[in-house]
Amino acid sequence: MAFAKELEVGLAAVRLAARVCQSVQASITGDVLDKQDKSPVTVADFASQAVICRALQQAFPHDPVISEEEADALNREENSPFRDRILKELAAVGIEATPEELSQWVDHGSEKSPGARFWTLDPIDGTKGFVRGDQYAVSLALIVEGEIQVAVLGCPNLPGHDGWDKQRGALFSAVRGEGAQLRPLAESAEHPQSVRVSSTRKGSFARLCESVESGHSAHSDSARIAALLGISNDPVRLDSQAKYAVVARGEADIYLRLPTKKDYREKIWDHAGGVLVVEEAGGKVTDVDGKPLDFQQGSELRNNRGVVVTNGGLHAEVLSAVAAVLGGETLA
Ligand code: AMP
Ligand code: MG
Repeated sequence: MAFAKELEVGLAAVRLAARVCQSVQASITGDVLDKQDKSPVTVADFASQAVICRALQQAFPHDPVISEEEADALNREENSPFRDRILKELAAVGIEATPEELSQWVDHGSEKSPGARFWTLDPIDGTKGFVRGDQYAVSLALIVEGEIQVAVLGCPNLPGHDGWDKQRGALFSAVRGEGAQLRPLAESAEHPQSVRVSSTRKGSFARLCESVESGHSAHSDSARIAALLGISNDPVRLDSQAKYAVVARGEADIYLRLPTKKDYREKIWDHAGGVLVVEEAGGKVTDVDGKPLDFQQGSELRNNRGVVVTNGGLHAEVLSAVAAVLGGETLA
């Protein structure tokens, strides 16, 4: 099997990082929410990035990592109170570290201009969902010469198939050309299930999902697109790349991410993991103009605007509805 070591290391790293995130999310109280206190996100973000970068650095010392968090931010005075808490969370999953090691692991994810082979990581995607106690994801992908080759997508609050209980979460993975798979997040010795998109072929029967945050995807445009497709049900709103996960396993047929600002460019770590899982499950991903996502432009999808994800069979119909509503070429 291609990329067997990359997949194994990625699965173990995302599992461990997700355990840290679950422990921090469980500690979020009403008080934290009332005060709009960002500290749980800060702690879990850095801890998750440290866990995964540490594992990647040990296994693939020459691979750069483009990740959301910056070590500079960790080393800033205002974040120093969080350092001890992060070190405690790491110790709780068996990683004893000095502040210097922590900083070095986080910094390992600060690559700006990698070569042909690199990893991209969102240590906690959907931070708003994380704080609310809703969906979030840990997303890791390996990109080689512009192609996503390996993806690992941990969704700690997404229930499993076949009655797994919610606490266990869902761990998706894919290797290009080898299909997409799903395992319970908490266990490692189980047989993975394969994941397939839905077979819905008529737009009017489609189930559509989108961001909870209207600042991340234009809800008014998606409502017009849904109306054009003849969809009468409300969209399902959920945070993070869990949207890719629900399309990949056929629980939704369409995920729309529609530009809210002309100059915003999507970040590669918000998509790479989810894209390969959906594609390997039989689905299709493009931008709103129908162009493939270009992962060779550094940390941003500079040549793309928005994202359209479908089960494949619906893609052409959805793209024409998107074009009708957004009015053709949208790249600024
Ligand atoms: P979601 O959970 O789908 O709402 O997406 C969360 C991600 O949205 C975050 O990780 C951000 O990187 C990203 N984001 C921030 N601002 C925007 C924006 N204006 N348009 C699209 N995505 C954004
Ligand atoms: Mg994100």
